[in-house]
Amino acid sequence: MIRTLRPVSDPLGSYLRVGRNDHSFLAQMLVDGRNTGTGLIADPACHERHKDLWVEARQRGVETVLDPRSLDLSTPGGMLRGGVHDLPWGSNAPHVPDNLYGQAGADLCAQLVDMVDEAGHSAVLAPTHFLATADDPWLEIDADLTTGLRSSLDRNGLTDVPIYYPLIARSNNFYDADWRQQIQEHLRPLPIDALWLRIHPFGTSTSGPLALKRYLAACRHMHELGRPLVGEHTGAVGVGLMAFGALGGIESGVTVNETTDLSRWLRKPKKSGGGGGEARIYLHQLGAFLELSKAQTLLNRPGMKAAHACLDTSCCRRGWKDTPGRYREHFVTQRAQEVASLSNTPDTLRAGSYLEGFLRPASDKAIRASEAEPALSVVRRRLDSWRGTFGADLTDNPAHSFSPPAAGKRVRRSA
Ligand SMILES: [Zn+2]
Repeated sequence: MIRTLRPVSDPLGSYLRVGRNDHSFLAQMLVDGRNTGTGLIADPACHERHKDLWVEARQRGVETVLDPRSLDLSTPGGMLRGGVHDLPWGSNAPHVPDNLYGQAGADLCAQLVDMVDEAGHSAVLAPTHFLATADDPWLEIDADLTTGLRSSLDRNGLTDVPIYYPLIARSNNFYDADWRQQIQEHLRPLPIDALWLRIHPFGTSTSGPLALKRYLAACRHMHELGRPLVGEHTGAVGVGLMAFGALGGIESGVTVNETTDLSRWLRKPKKSGGGGGEARIYLHQLGAFLELSKAQTLLNRPGMKAAHACLDTSCCRRGWKDTPGRYREHFVTQRAQEVASLSNTPDTLRAGSYLEGFLRPASDKAIRASEAEPALSVVRRRLDSWRGTFGADLTDNPAHSFSPPAAGKRVRRSA
């Protein structure tokens, strides 16, 4: 039989931010040969604790990306976050642009390269900072740091390690075409291999019709840079944005961080972070999380196991019986599959397949689920809203641009 082979395109990016206690189950999944997504984000404060995970990930062809935590080190709320004072490039007071000018910046780059080299990381986030305006003083410093980081990597023989540039800004700036134009002109000459969007506030819980429409349009404008775009902390709405070509990759925490909210960084939070709350169960048919106790009550209602229990034996062998105890494996497996199945669909068919294969059945299922569990009413409204916004985009913009897939490669630059 003659088969016509179509060239295999690069996979879309699916990155997980590895929390302090996430390393053991992720290492087990990798050893078992299960799909955890395309990349893991490394916290330098857990350098020793997580080092075996990075070795296993690299052997499995999973990217490991060092995050210098420069936003933490330059904001009053960020300085209160765990492990920040243990970083070799940290300080006692939040960094201001002058702290990283010249030699100090070169020293930071050298320390980052040492850690990349020692842990064998495959990529690194540029040490960028929050931009309050389009001519924020951080912009020039971050450009110097990014260029310096590239030179330092190259000098150490790490020429194939890509640099991803986190663009950290408020959404009202990101949604402004003039602001984006200025930022693009500034970023174009920099040696960056992907642009990571940390846009505040945006994500699954802040993606009403106007925000979603503007974010889509802003991403399409940023495609002019020719670099893959990765939506940080976008969660389930990020999957839709990949289906519509806006993003080439997404990033989230393990069952947390599906929305970018920088308010706890930019100001000192009045209350401490809380944390250690109830496990959140990923209801993959709805692309939404629900606290364990509520999920348990919901699944015990008539017909709800049939609609929402996990039937995937690779994460939940005994179905719903296993999901509460394995909620992290369940989430990682389901998210990796959502992204892999989009990757396996030709890019021009992804939007339609997302609408018909996920969004329509999800919003139908959410009607009954929200009657049984009122906490899901917000999910029901959100899915209806996405259906309206994405559906209109499919009609209004049939010939839109696509982000290149975030596939962990250096971008070839024309001389
Ligand atoms: Zn499962």
